[in-house]
Amino acid sequence: MSYLKENLESVKEQIKASCEKSKRDPEDVTLIAVSKTKSEDMIKEIYDCGVRDFGENYVQELSQKMEDLPDDIRWHMIGHLQTNKIKYIIDKVYMIHSVDTLHLAEAIGKEAVKRGKVVKCLLEVNVALEDTKFGFNSDNIEENFEKIKNIEGIDVWGLMTSAPYVENPEENRQYFVQLRALMVDLKDKGLYNKEKFLLSMGMTNDYNVAVEEGADFVRIGTAIFGARNYN
Ligand SMILES: *Cc1c(COP(=O)(O)O)cnc(C)c1O
Repeated sequence: MSYLKENLESVKEQIKASCEKSKRDPEDVTLIAVSKTKSEDMIKEIYDCGVRDFGENYVQELSQKMEDLPDDIRWHMIGHLQTNKIKYIIDKVYMIHSVDTLHLAEAIGKEAVKRGKVVKCLLEVNVALEDTKFGFNSDNIEENFEKIKNIEGIDVWGLMTSAPYVENPEENRQYFVQLRALMVDLKDKGLYNKEKFLLSMGMTNDYNVAVEEGADFVRIGTAIFGARNYN
């Protein structure tokens, strides 16, 4: 078995174990293989193992891969998105997880309407209030969620967060609990009306904890593809 397949199997096993621990159905957790900086050959190998959800951060890289790789891949845009680049990905992207300003949301909506599309989105929340991260915070998410929900061309499904890099994933449990609580609060206040909402949380270092706290999407790069080399 190739090492990529082995990595994938081990991640799936761990997701299953976390589901058992928290009495969740593993079917309810979608694994997004985060393939930024990784080759199309590597993606193809994971694709051949049955994975159809892939996450990318950079528009140019994403649009190239969208062009080259099979059409039934669901591409998740998870990186910071500039408004002038929306047009390059909007036709093929399955979901944008990283809607981090009202301005960006308006621009996505405008581009979507122009093309007669509706784009599934999650709003990014910087729960841990890290200076280096984009996103709304717990004080302004309500106001922005309400506005963005009403933008034509956008279909809001829930929230996304990237927790801090920590050695001990238990330290991030609080942030996953907080993200869920924010979403429950939005629902309770009548600002979200679908029966089901989606939480995108958990990366290589903390996805076990995120699954235990209710992640619907985990975004896993390193544990599947190995460390990234940005040179
Ligand atoms: C790169 C990235 C990931 C994957 O990170 P790993 O630690 O390699 O699993 C997940 N989410 C976002 C937003 C990322 O930028």
